[in-house]
Amino acid sequence: MTKKEQLYEGKAKKVFATENPELLIVSYKDDATAFNGLKKGTIHGKGVINNRMSNLLMRYLEKAGVPTHYVEELNDRETLVKRVSIVPLEVIVRNIAAGSFSKRYGVAEGVVFDTPTIEFSYKNDDLGDPLLNEYHALALKLATKEEIETIKKYAFTVNDRLKAFWAECGVTLVDFKLEFGRLSDGTIVLADEISPDTCRFWDSKTGEKLDKDRFRRDMGGVEDAYAEIMKRLTQHI
Ligand code: UDP
Repeated sequence: MTKKEQLYEGKAKKVFATENPELLIVSYKDDATAFNGLKKGTIHGKGVINNRMSNLLMRYLEKAGVPTHYVEELNDRETLVKRVSIVPLEVIVRNIAAGSFSKRYGVAEGVVFDTPTIEFSYKNDDLGDPLLNEYHALALKLATKEEIETIKKYAFTVNDRLKAFWAECGVTLVDFKLEFGRLSDGTIVLADEISPDTCRFWDSKTGEKLDKDRFRRDMGGVEDAYAEIMKRLTQHI
């Protein structure tokens, strides 16, 4: 598959056209941002880890009945994916209080929920990705009622599967963000990435953070944490 013109450059990835209008190539960068782009930096080797991890997890989820945009890993940093139009919702599933949830509701990090929660933000950098509910999403015509139902069903399946999977790696899946897209026929599929950039991973025994919070919070050991979480995954899968 030949890489053609660059269509888009995001914070962590570039997207290229291919000779097939239904397929795109995603290229993962080492660039890291946080706080809506206010904090910028580089996490050396991150692109390689996120590419591989996302692909491994998407293949695993496909087998569990969640359709994804994944087609084929091309090399260390690049993957062939199905072209989708992204549903402009950030879908966040949480098992344990952390980050913006703890801040917003005044709950200590680490409080474990009886059942997982889901929330949506409007994917819009200019507005700072504001939190919204399903009725807001419908009013703004971001997705249909049926699409939202499908997205919720897939998001909780992803959580069930990944929570169990990571537990076997000695890792607690605290929370994560998903993005979904529509194929040309309207089918909803899981898109974007699943990586330490988009998930909170805590070591099950020590509680050590093995994700992008180390970058967000200037904790140091960022590259080591990404390498460690990748090691846990490849030792298990
Ligand atoms: N997240 C993400 N992109 C965003 C916002 C959040 O990937 O733009 C992920 C984040 O890594 C975490 C989860 O979604 O795993 C919940 O993040 P939260 O809402 O707590 O926001 P944060 O504290 O990261 O600002």
